[in-house]
Amino acid sequence: MDIIHLLPDNVANQIAAGEVIQRPSSCLKELAENALDAKADKIQVIVQDAGRTLLQVIDNGVGMSETDVRMAFERHATSKISKASDLFSLRTMGFRGEALASICAIAQVEVSTRREQDQLGTRLEIDGSKVQEQELVQCPVGTNIKVKNLFYNVPVRRKFLKSDQTEFRNILNEFYRIALVYPKVAFVLVHNDELILELNAGTEKQRIEAIFGKSSRNSYTANFVEIGADTEIVSIRGFIGKPEFASKNHQQYFFVNGRYMRHPYFHKAVLNAYSGMLQQEANPSYFIYFEVNPDTIDVNIHPTKTEIKFADDQLVFQILLATVREALGKFNIAPSLDFDVSGKIEMPILNTTSIMPKPVCTRDVNYNPFKQSNNVSSSNWQTLYSNPDDYTEHTTLEDTKQAVIFEDEIWWNVPIQYVDKYICVASSIGLLIIDQHRAHQAILYHQYVKQILDERVISQQLLFPEIWELNPESMMIVMDALDELHSVGFDLSQFSKTSFSINGVPPNVEIANAKVVLQEILIHLQENAKLKEVWREQIAKQLALHTAIPYGRHLTDEEMQDIISRLFKLPTYMYTPDGKKIIHVLSDEEIGKNMFS
Ligand code: ADP
Ligand code: MG
Repeated sequence: MDIIHLLPDNVANQIAAGEVIQRPSSCLKELAENALDAKADKIQVIVQDAGRTLLQVIDNGVGMSETDVRMAFERHATSKISKASDLFSLRTMGFRGEALASICAIAQVEVSTRREQDQLGTRLEIDGSKVQEQELVQCPVGTNIKVKNLFYNVPVRRKFLKSDQTEFRNILNEFYRIALVYPKVAFVLVHNDELILELNAGTEKQRIEAIFGKSSRNSYTANFVEIGADTEIVSIRGFIGKPEFASKNHQQYFFVNGRYMRHPYFHKAVLNAYSGMLQQEANPSYFIYFEVNPDTIDVNIHPTKTEIKFADDQLVFQILLATVREALGKFNIAPSLDFDVSGKIEMPILNTTSIMPKPVCTRDVNYNPFKQSNNVSSSNWQTLYSNPDDYTEHTTLEDTKQAVIFEDEIWWNVPIQYVDKYICVASSIGLLIIDQHRAHQAILYHQYVKQILDERVISQQLLFPEIWELNPESMMIVMDALDELHSVGFDLSQFSKTSFSINGVPPNVEIANAKVVLQEILIHLQENAKLKEVWREQIAKQLALHTAIPYGRHLTDEEMQDIISRLFKLPTYMYTPDGKKIIHVLSDEEIGKNMFS
């Protein structure tokens, strides 16, 4: 007897449903995407019991004809693509033609739908893939679909659902992801007869405000700056949170061609742009919208379609990094330095014993780094630093809440060193306690960065080269990074299959210490093995960390004054490049209230 037979459709659909519909939120995603594909501009979502008992989506889109609605629930039934090559020019959210077939295999579905040109609409009832009832009805143009008792016939799946609270949170997240990319579509969300959100058509900014601004007293979006870049490869728009607004409670959204996506690699680009501006563990918020030619991305790699592959991901990374940097710089919150210099106030060179000049805030709202040159493939990290005017001539004082206090004039007294660790100095805004090691680390970091960009290699040559033994994997990384290492003064050459000879080191590195420093750098290069574009920065960071004056080093008055004056000339001086606090300010009131009350 032959034993192979085809699975009945309803069983096959049930199995396929496991891929597409994991929980109520995935069902909502599919239904809402269908409504959007049907060009609806009003979408209502009605949910009962976190979607377990009911998930209903009502749209005012184009609707379906009587035959189309029957077809829609068949597997691989789609109106959106007809040949494989269509996959590369997708402009719709759905395209697989399996969502409705999956949903009706694992739930009881009721749908009424009407097209504008039809007098009467169609109502269908489907139960476990079987049509129970079909009739002509009077109903508005559009589609109204109810998905009831999700997983009623798949008890295992039902058991895997989390608490209502968690499932509803998933629904909300899914809802946000969709609502945030379709600001021109009005949405309503109702849960257990309670109106949760009502979103009017508007701009992206208004949509963000409407969703996340509800609980905050002040404007939510006021904490953001706008970003934008137009290149041949990608156009990027959106909003990024100001550094001081970064927290553990952040919102991070990427969208591409109107579709939410997860993209850990691009996420790194954003974080990199904030380098040196965030306190440890604080995370920036962002809403970033990419537009690319559909044939340069592949949305087909993940069943739930949130991971998207870009053909030019390294270039996009560079452009994104530069765009975010540029925006942060424009608002004078980062070391971006390449804007139009007109109208800029010249800063006198700081003198530690004189009055500190009032800070200036330079910004050029129309600045676009891509306007002047289309040469996006050169490292943008470089272009952002390569300013004819030395960035150290500017002081940027708006970068953190704490920094605002520096807006007053500061006068300096002779600093004193405390426990060979802190530099204390009185100023008009309070007593400044400066971490000597971190301050020097920040100074050196910027110095190394500048050195790299100016291609000014300074290296002390060793009389007797040191041999550095490495395992094969490390050999490869170092081999790859020879140029980057050389740019800060490490002169290495391959000595054997398993070793390099160290012929020269940066001036601040003690020869006895060279291998330790290189080893530390190597660890960070390995961690970022796939992110070659951040290697130079990593090297500058590590080198600064390991060559900065240590705790326990006694400093002379001149040395302390030198550190203070150089520190305050940096574009960011409140935090080290890796986000550690450099300065603590004890204000007069604080001293009075906390210490002498
Ligand atoms: P896909 O969206 O991948 O095409 P679905 O199973 O989600 O597959 O939907 C199948 C088809 O049913 C769609 O291609 C579309 O023609 C039609 N359809 C589904 N939902 C709607 C809707 N809300 N309004 C109009 N047509 C719809
Ligand atoms: Mg669909």
